[in-house]
Amino acid sequence: MAMTAPGKGHNSNSDSAASSSLSEAAYRREVKVVPGGSMRAASWFKPHPPYAARGEGCWVVDLDGRRILDCANNFFSLIHGHAFPPVLDAVREAMAKGTAFGMPTESEIQLAEALAARNPRMEQTRFCNSGTEAVLAALKGARALTGRERIAKFEGCYHGAYDWIEVSLDPTPANWNDENGNPASVRHNVGTPDSVLRETVVLPYDDPQRCAEILRREGPTLAAVILDLHASRAGTVAMSKEVSAVVQEACRRDGIMLISDEVICFRLSYEGASPLFGLEPDLITTAKIIGGGLPIGAVSGPAAHMAVFNHADGKPRVSMGGTFSGNPLSMAAGLASLEHYSRPVVERLNGLGDDFRKRVREGLAAKGVEATLSGLGSLFRLHLGPGEVTGYRTALPSPENAARIRRIQLAMLAKGVLLTPNCSGALSTPMTEAEITLLADKLVEVVAKETSDQASVAA
Ligand code: PMP
Repeated sequence: MAMTAPGKGHNSNSDSAASSSLSEAAYRREVKVVPGGSMRAASWFKPHPPYAARGEGCWVVDLDGRRILDCANNFFSLIHGHAFPPVLDAVREAMAKGTAFGMPTESEIQLAEALAARNPRMEQTRFCNSGTEAVLAALKGARALTGRERIAKFEGCYHGAYDWIEVSLDPTPANWNDENGNPASVRHNVGTPDSVLRETVVLPYDDPQRCAEILRREGPTLAAVILDLHASRAGTVAMSKEVSAVVQEACRRDGIMLISDEVICFRLSYEGASPLFGLEPDLITTAKIIGGGLPIGAVSGPAAHMAVFNHADGKPRVSMGGTFSGNPLSMAAGLASLEHYSRPVVERLNGLGDDFRKRVREGLAAKGVEATLSGLGSLFRLHLGPGEVTGYRTALPSPENAARIRRIQLAMLAKGVLLTPNCSGALSTPMTEAEITLLADKLVEVVAKETSDQASVAA
């Protein structure tokens, strides 16, 4: 499918990532009406990003007709790539019946059933429209279930745009330790109240002993510990079984709700991430691929916990609802997407990911480049330098390496490959051995060239 991608025949990839005149014109219009000229920093760069015109499979065509191999997949939400026919058919069929109702539809039952069938701990589900909303609802649920206010999260980990969960999203060596050498609660946004910092305990991603100590001290005050078992900002490396076991044990001991945020890592296995890691969370948050490319979020868990959202017997302990919650288009797209993410498909994609990472690591080693590719399943991220990446602190590049990562991202784009700004990416099911080879060859070539350019500047 990918080899008959749109735009073939007028491929105008050039060495300048930003030579697209129609994209440039679009950006000049956008910057007048949108702060920063983009809806999100993650899809923006200087002088301007290419604007997408259409996509098919793993390829996107920009306004100027450039074909781009898409490894960002709208930030990992498109497991089947763009315009996946079964998703389009399902959405068309749903849309023809009406786009949204002030009444439930059967499609919300079907998607909730599909999640429960994959992981029995997702016995019940409430849908919303983003991962942020899902995490927000899960934390409110945890507070109501425990009668406590504080939460704990891991340093550097992203769980959405919500005050408590944004604490210590991007601390630096200058501010990341408190006076006892533990991770400090660091403000991310200007204006976040001090009370939010006091209510948020920060845990180290790769230090089980310190984690255990902090949880032993703070545990009885915590409503929830939220974790991402394969956090992108903590390096796109798996959380060690020691750390997840420490969290599990502390949650059981102190009656804390354990929330597994699987907004990205649900894709790692057919059942999601927690069964893969032997974790038994109290609540699971998902989004992205469970919506098939349409807006979605979900909180799932055993009926006993999910009862916190139950309104059937009077005012619920926590209200959860929204105008478009469970809208039939997202439900239909999500159902079609999950139906086609069967066990064999998950295995094939994860195998492709293993091959890809091996190819890149071997290619970089053969060229003597000090860099590596972390990741699991279909997820990957490039790291520069010789050190092992185990979590947020070891993944955080020096300012010089951060600039090099950005240059590599732009050089990859100039060669027709879209990665995220920190050079992470995700494979999608339309990809084959051909795309993986292309991707690996380009990445090795670009990283090697950037490294030798860097060396000649330094010499
Ligand atoms: N949790 C995790 C682990 C995420 O990666 C993200 C988004 N990348 C979110 C929550 C928030 O999801 P959304 O962007 O749909 O609000």
